[in-house]
Amino acid sequence: MKFAAIFALALAASVSVTAAAQEPAREGAAPPPRPAGGGMPGPSAIEPITDNVYKIFGGGGNTLVVVQQDGVVLVDTKMPGHGEAILNEVRKVSDKPVTAIISTHSHPDHIGSTDFIREQYPDARVIMHETAKAEITAAPNHNPGVVPNETYTDRMTLGEGADRIELYYTGPGHTGGDTFVVIPAAKLLFMGDVMAWNMAPFLPAGGAAKIADEIDNLVAALEDKDIEIVVEGHGHVNTWDGFVRFAKFNRALLNAAKAAYDRGDAPGTAVAELQRNPEFAELLDNRIKKGLEYGNTPLARAHMNVNIAFAEFAGEPVGFGLANGAPLPATDKHKGSDPKDTAPPTPEMLAAAVAK
Ligand SMILES: [Zn+2]
Ligand SMILES: [Zn+2]
Repeated sequence: MKFAAIFALALAASVSVTAAAQEPAREGAAPPPRPAGGGMPGPSAIEPITDNVYKIFGGGGNTLVVVQQDGVVLVDTKMPGHGEAILNEVRKVSDKPVTAIISTHSHPDHIGSTDFIREQYPDARVIMHETAKAEITAAPNHNPGVVPNETYTDRMTLGEGADRIELYYTGPGHTGGDTFVVIPAAKLLFMGDVMAWNMAPFLPAGGAAKIADEIDNLVAALEDKDIEIVVEGHGHVNTWDGFVRFAKFNRALLNAAKAAYDRGDAPGTAVAELQRNPEFAELLDNRIKKGLEYGNTPLARAHMNVNIAFAEFAGEPVGFGLANGAPLPATDKHKGSDPKDTAPPTPEMLAAAVAK
């Protein structure tokens, strides 16, 4: 499975959204030097979430920084080239060594700077799900510096007491090896890209049906864990109630898509049905979120996932085009989608981006 190539495609298609908006082409001039991190703005200043857990936004996925008794645990390391910036931010809150790097999944915007950080801390444990490792090593030219030295299959626990960290795998979804990280002492869950920017997730590896199961399985596994804080893989810090709403939304999206498919209606009617539930308003917002590295509005993302669900119901190949906003073509099994529903955001939409 060519996950790196696939993700590069996804990234290329969507990074151009922001990069093009920020950097008008200069005719005849040499292209500007490529900044670290594939053209995205670099990491922001470290922000506290609790007394000992912090978040670094930007330059790829959120990096979670957990300051423990004997060291610092990092979850996700952004795009390549941000290792020094990440460590500079960590140094603002702790001088302790990095003892472990946990990766939520195999995508380059979450593992990219692991190589630099482990060069500084050669004893650090580098941990991810076994399928995430397989996805990375399947690429012939993969970077050995991001390959984990420990993997797990179902559950894993690190440390004890206040330092306890729990890793959960609940099935394929965003990738084949998604990890959810729980810090019990902080009552905190870190979601990776299964929940990013509080919108329907980008779901190539598992699919619309599987990701709904993956999220419901996670809710069931954590129901009595008393979690209050849910940190999204990109974007903001949410709540347990926000996460449960998100789980309901993904299940409702799948059910609405199936009902529309069975009726012979166009995919857009499934999203229209979701829009009738006021509880889902934020998850279907038609504005771009401020700071979004790549991607589209929550509303467009919901349309993309309904399109993928239709292709899955019909047994048609789910190409990465659909996940990136290509319209669903009509076939003898179903109607097609309206290209406007998944069109890239316009410069006006990018200029009018909203904070939440
Ligand atoms: Zn990501
Ligand atoms: Zn991802």
